[in-house]
Amino acid sequence: MSVAANIASIQERIIAAARRAGRRPEEIALMAVSKTQPPERIGEAYAAGQRLFGENRVQEFAAKNNALQDLHAAEWHMIGHLQTNKAAKTAELFRAVDSVDSLKLAEKLDAAARKLSRKLDVLVEINVGGEEAKSGAAPDSQGLEELLLAAPRLEGMVFRGLMTVPPFSDHAQDARPYFRKLRELRDAIAARKLSGIAMEQLSMGMSHDFEVAIEEGSTCVRVGTAIFGERTKA
Ligand SMILES: *Cc1c(COP(=O)(O)O)cnc(C)c1O
Repeated sequence: MSVAANIASIQERIIAAARRAGRRPEEIALMAVSKTQPPERIGEAYAAGQRLFGENRVQEFAAKNNALQDLHAAEWHMIGHLQTNKAAKTAELFRAVDSVDSLKLAEKLDAAARKLSRKLDVLVEINVGGEEAKSGAAPDSQGLEELLLAAPRLEGMVFRGLMTVPPFSDHAQDARPYFRKLRELRDAIAARKLSGIAMEQLSMGMSHDFEVAIEEGSTCVRVGTAIFGERTKA
């Protein structure tokens, strides 16, 4: 199937999942995860009306960015693990960083954004499964608390919510408790009404489990494979 047909079919499934959950489909954004995809494929998605894109490597995106200049209305989000030495380039190339997981990284991004007189939208990435090898702040950790409490002074960033990648499973339903946990954490943080923090966004759900994520409250599903096909490299 073409990229356009895949996007149309995913949008149908988003609408159906939202209705099942008694939610309004407009509350759920579809992000096309275009990592490893060449500019031509990304252009096909754009031509089909797709505007929100996620990339996971700064260098890869920097290399193809020139070829994407014509996609004026595209909105680029960084969704991958970031090293602090990439903060300046990230603030230059991306509208938002959905994978902020430490105060140290937030401070670097904040400084870089301010230098450019920009505001970066950010999501805090949470390691809901407590997996060793995964990035993300642990729920209930000192690190997460520090990050949240620092928000008022990080004037180059706008905190909008939480993001997660749950432990991998072939069965979408296995992800449900993790999605629910992220929603509960979001609700708990929102209830504290912390200064400088909005908590309306929940970025969760990928190609194989986005419908379950929508049932659990996702406001942004990040879909790569189901739009562009299998990736040849990770
Ligand atoms: C690659 C990636 C996705 C998309 O995964 P698919 O299974 O291809 O839909 C979503 N989120 C993050 C953080 C990713 O790195």
